[in-house]
Amino acid sequence: MPVAIAIDGPAGAGKSTIAKTAAKELNFIYVDTGALYRTVGLAATRKGVEAIPSKEVDELLKNIRVELTFNDENQQVVLLDGEDVSELIRTPEASMMASAISAVPAVREYLLDLQRNIAKRNNVIMDGRDIGTVVLPDAKIKIFLYAEPEDRAKRRYDELIAKGMDVNYEDILKDVKQRDYNDSHRDIAPLKPAKDSIMVNTTGNTLEQSVQLLIKIMKENM
Ligand code: C5P
Repeated sequence: MPVAIAIDGPAGAGKSTIAKTAAKELNFIYVDTGALYRTVGLAATRKGVEAIPSKEVDELLKNIRVELTFNDENQQVVLLDGEDVSELIRTPEASMMASAISAVPAVREYLLDLQRNIAKRNNVIMDGRDIGTVVLPDAKIKIFLYAEPEDRAKRRYDELIAKGMDVNYEDILKDVKQRDYNDSHRDIAPLKPAKDSIMVNTTGNTLEQSVQLLIKIMKENM
């Protein structure tokens, strides 16, 4: 039986970097489920979907093909109707669209088997918002990774400044808090720790400290 490790938590807690490094160390496949919601969001933008939720979204799901594949280096590649969109889904617009479309029950239903099928065939570290609660409730290890909003906003601010972007810390903090609110207050699969999650607070840690802490927790609980 393949082993599954679920990592959930709010945006900006360092989930993807930590999960990616840990997956390499443990020789597991890393699955970023946010990329799937971003891909459906991109499809909706391309097809000019105007309202969410709507019949248009239901129609959209009947007419698109989202696939999750892995390249030679075991890195995730997301395909939308056969096109590699892994980079295109990383824009702020795609984040906003993903956040909105992920609250539609039909979208979550549509992506459920895709996520579960990968975990049936591979040892995975899967990150998202509802992996431990909905997608893989039987995961061997469940981790809920969080950090204070100010800490997460600061990380995001530093990243964007390093990319040469002109951004304002207060605006980013407001966005972080808004996304937290949206993700944890939606009716379906809200962001919340599973009852048997190990809670990990990364506030004040460097990324390297968090990575080492998580790898230690995983090895101890395997
Ligand atoms: O993780 P990432 O920020 O790329 O996810 C984009 C959006 O997709 C999130 O804001 C969240 O609303 C949604 N999402 C979700 N369930 C997941 C992963 C992501 O609802 N398992």
